[in-house]
Amino acid sequence: MQTACDHTRTQIIARRDGVDYVECLDCHQVFEAEDLEPVPAEDEEE
Ligand SMILES: [Zn+2]
Repeated sequence: MQTACDHTRTQIIARRDGVDYVECLDCHQVFEAEDLEPVPAEDEEE
């Protein structure tokens, strides 16, 4: 796997339903800004 990342550098990439989504500039993981919980980057719905 990859090296552990603390996700200290992030940028907001989207906002939906009052939730900001941020992307880590180091590992490019996408999170919800409020809890830094990883979310699927791709569409969830058909
Ligand atoms: Zn990261």
